[in-house]
Amino acid sequence: MNEQALKKAVTELITLVLNNASAGGAHENGPIPVELSARHVHLSEKDAIALFGAPLTHARDLSQPGQFLCKERVRLIGPKGVMDNVAVLGPSRGKSQVEISRTDARALGVDAPVRLSGDIAGTPGMVLASQNGIIGLSEGVIVAARHIHMTPQDAARFGVKDGDKVSVRLASERPLVLEDVLVRVSDKFSLAMHIDADEGNSAGWKKGIDGVITARS
Ligand SMILES: [Zn+2]
Repeated sequence: MNEQALKKAVTELITLVLNNASAGGAHENGPIPVELSARHVHLSEKDAIALFGAPLTHARDLSQPGQFLCKERVRLIGPKGVMDNVAVLGPSRGKSQVEISRTDARALGVDAPVRLSGDIAGTPGMVLASQNGIIGLSEGVIVAARHIHMTPQDAARFGVKDGDKVSVRLASERPLVLEDVLVRVSDKFSLAMHIDADEGNSAGWKKGIDGVITARS
């Protein structure tokens, strides 16, 4: 290729890149803070009172505005095993829900499906106990589907919308691309990706790890 042909090719390439950027083809991909959701439960106010004799009490704020870790802890009792000292997240919800990993599900002896938080119809139940009470949930045990919380502003700069699925590469000790990560958009959220303990351990996740979007569907 002579010099003139080379200049022409470079000019064409630059024009292509600039046009693509101005057409909205270039979006940011990250960094997205990746947080590990350890096993936890959400309780209805009725179930909280049945277990603790009082509404839930605040221990520490979580990354999502309004969400908090409670002082209360529960025991999960499944057909094959029990797990103690399980975190309770507040505020109370309409229905109680238990979020565990696949590894937990196997240890407890429940066949928990991967579901979006809140989508609990037809899921298995579980017995929950405190020092003061015991309750039986007829449903509500899930493995939470991995997801990213983001604001409408984040969604615009990443070029995604609520309900989209993306692939995210975790820049961790054992880097991993997680596919089918659900995008959840609300002005009540703050930017964070949530994975469970199995996903985190498989990637060598540590606190402070970021992710970047590698594909949009
Ligand atoms: Zn979440």
